[in-house]
Amino acid sequence: MFGEGIIKGLAETARNFAGSYVNKDRLVTVQYPEKRLPQKEAARNFPFLVYDGGDWQKGLRCVACQICEKECPPQCIYIVKDTTKKPDFTGKPQFQPKVFNIDISVCMSCQICVEVCPFDAIKMDVEYELSSGGRFGDLLLQKNQLAKSNEYYQKIHPSEAAEVDGRLAAEKAKAEAKAKAAAEAKARAAAAPKPAVTSPKPAPAPSKPVPAMPKAAAPAAPKPRPVAPASTPTPALAK
Ligand code: SF4
Ligand code: SF4
Repeated sequence: MFGEGIIKGLAETARNFAGSYVNKDRLVTVQYPEKRLPQKEAARNFPFLVYDGGDWQKGLRCVACQICEKECPPQCIYIVKDTTKKPDFTGKPQFQPKVFNIDISVCMSCQICVEVCPFDAIKMDVEYELSSGGRFGDLLLQKNQLAKSNEYYQKIHPSEAAEVDGRLAAEKAKAEAKAKAAAEAKARAAAAPKPAVTSPKPAPAPSKPVPAMPKAAAPAAPKPRPVAPASTPTPALAK
């Protein structure tokens, strides 16, 4: 029926309005900003950069591979890669972004940057109170504004962060076990006794006899020319 959806919506509004005087569950609005509704875990707004440890500059997971910059549909990520490796929070040297900006006045919260990041370094934030009087500069978030701790990530997206932490820990354990096995194999090879005598060189294989070239056939003797028969004597004429 034409307009059925509008009527249903108005009926629901009226039910909540009248019901809110007798039932608290019917109060679907809150007095913002004095009150705030708790965020849903799946909520997302703009991306942020995750760091591990206590120092955001050392602990950034981002290695400035620039994949997110290339894949961002409205091209609102700007990265400048540092030219030298710096120690991360574990002391391992790695590349980091010298500049990492996101223009949130352009970002459309699509989460593609999160999906393509191979290092779980960028995640979606739930922060929405970002309004500002500065139209351009204030909405261009810099690296220091984007960096947020892994503890913050665990707080806003607990299930997702637990899955990421578990996967990263498993990958780290696997890499450490592989490195340990390689080091042990190298040590075993170094400790193994070396053979005293070197094996003699194998004798060279006898060369194949070269087949003798067939001699050229002697030229055939010239055939004797036929001798002309002796001419018959002409009889003397009678006188
Ligand atoms: S956030 Fe991820 S995809 Fe983007 S540059 Fe850093 S490591 Fe690469
Ligand atoms: S959420 Fe989408 S639009 Fe925003 S920075 Fe990431 S890829 Fe770009």
